[in-house]
Amino acid sequence: MAFVVTGNCEGCRFTDCVAVCPVECFHADEKMLYIDPDECIDCGACVPECPVEAIYDEAELPEELERWKGINAQRAVGLPVITETGSPLPAADARKKELGF
Ligand code: SF4
Ligand code: SF4
Repeated sequence: MAFVVTGNCEGCRFTDCVAVCPVECFHADEKMLYIDPDECIDCGACVPECPVEAIYDEAELPEELERWKGINAQRAVGLPVITETGSPLPAADARKKELGF
């Protein structure tokens, strides 16, 4: 079992989540973050930190977001680990409003 980052993170990338993660399981590309399911210890600490509710326990993923489980597993491998909160992407605030947060 692991936690999964879903599409709300795209274009946002506030990275509040990585600061609380006790292990190094967040990986980043230019758009968003992904959780390595082999590293995630299922603590759930990242979930309340995300301002756009992008992170789910894989056991509670809504059906329409199921595909993100495989995407996280595939993308996390090979992308750099991110462990420190960085600057959000330039359009992050607009994206957050668009998503209704
Ligand atoms: S806090 Fe949420 S939106 Fe920001 S990087 Fe983490 S998962 Fe993505
Ligand atoms: S559930 Fe815990 S270990 Fe997994 S990504 Fe979130 S903070 Fe990291």
